[in-house]
Amino acid sequence: MIRNIFLDLDDTLLDFKAAERNAVAQTLTQVGVAVNDHVLRRYSELNESQWKRMERGEITVDQVKTHRYELLFEELGVIADAAQTTKIYEGFLAAQHPELPGARAMLDALFGRYRLYLASNGTARVQHRRLDESGLRRYFDKVFLSQELGANKPSPAFFEKSFALIDGFQKDESVIFGDSLTSDILGGLRAGLLTVWFNPLGKPVGEIRPDYEVRSLDEFPPLVASL
Ligand SMILES: [Mg+2]
Repeated sequence: MIRNIFLDLDDTLLDFKAAERNAVAQTLTQVGVAVNDHVLRRYSELNESQWKRMERGEITVDQVKTHRYELLFEELGVIADAAQTTKIYEGFLAAQHPELPGARAMLDALFGRYRLYLASNGTARVQHRRLDESGLRRYFDKVFLSQELGANKPSPAFFEKSFALIDGFQKDESVIFGDSLTSDILGGLRAGLLTVWFNPLGKPVGEIRPDYEVRSLDEFPPLVASL
């Protein structure tokens, strides 16, 4: 029987792609870059490639944040300060918290039946503000942010540090639910948790094999109840 649920935030509860798109458009406009679909798509691709490098341990989270803008500005031939741009971006991003369809209903269904824990690699200042302004914070017993724990998903240290902060924690009563195979699912598997992959687009699984997968958020509460 499951008692503890670790939930990812971005692209599991909040629509990060929409939030990111809005915040990047606002940021680039502010630093004088003409925004169009190509520019937004390249930002998204460069950003994702840098996060993957971080997950492989090649660069730090802070490097992710500046590299993605350095690379974009280089491609576009724009002279702008990447560190300053990152600050501007995080300010805009913190104000964005569009929810994915069914996220609130899923949390309402889980709340009170399980202990819910947020587990996110996002920037602490940004995530705290989004949790407050979205009203999602009240659902969580604890919020585990990589920046505050000093370790990122999928590293076992992220999970071990989180487990240590939960009274009476038992791995075999615990599950992680998230959209990322390389951070949520791999991390959960390494840490000895049951894993449920949120796979709305029906992507094929690769080498990283979740225990379960769902395509919509309303499938998750009945699945957890059956475990
Ligand atoms: Mg995610």
